[in-house]
Amino acid sequence: MLELAAQRDARFVLASSSEVYGEPQVHPQHEGYTGNVELAGERACYDEAKRFAEAAVDAYRRTNGLQGRVARIFNTYGPRINPDDGRVVPNFVTQALAGEPLTIYGDGTQTRSYCYVEDMARGVVALLDAEEDLVVNLGNPEEHTVLYLARQVIALTGSDSGIEHHPLPENDPTRRRPDITRAIELLDWHPEVDLEAGLKSTIEYFRELTG
Ligand code: UDP
Repeated sequence: MLELAAQRDARFVLASSSEVYGEPQVHPQHEGYTGNVELAGERACYDEAKRFAEAAVDAYRRTNGLQGRVARIFNTYGPRINPDDGRVVPNFVTQALAGEPLTIYGDGTQTRSYCYVEDMARGVVALLDAEEDLVVNLGNPEEHTVLYLARQVIALTGSDSGIEHHPLPENDPTRRRPDITRAIELLDWHPEVDLEAGLKSTIEYFRELTG
């Protein structure tokens, strides 16, 4: 893909991930932070693959004149997310609507920052339209614990589901929150949909899906 983009003088946007930061020791995470990633373990292949892909874009930019950009995408959710995808928002919404217990991994004090899909899509397009090659965090800086998310989903669905704790997967990051200063300044982008509004439209979508 990089070869083809360089040959055709096409702009290339890599969908990278907040996973490049691993278990972050800097909070919130800014683009200059090089991360704290395990070489082995359940998430290592994914994390290191994203890091390698960023390095490959950078190398093609330097040596082949590629117009290459990198979006470090933080947790994103919204309508049309796959209900079986295993991520926390589809899991919780599906469970709440079915009246099943919500499965919290660990004690639920780990945090994530959830970005609504339409905001994310606007950010990616803004990066594609930018005049410079940038590496930029895209995400919503509103940070919540997983336990808070579970309670919000239960409240917004009106479900009588309870909460069930399951073991925490290996190397599950303790916290994640993007520093989006660069995106605000250079892309004139910031998220507009807060968690409550985003969850409401996601819940509506899942209700229609399950009929
Ligand atoms: N999680 C959870 N219950 C679930 C699915 C996920 O408690 O049914 C937790 C998971 O351990 C993590 C957070 O929710 O701490 C976000 O998980 P997800 O897989 O959505 O994204 P990622 O871990 O890649 O940020």
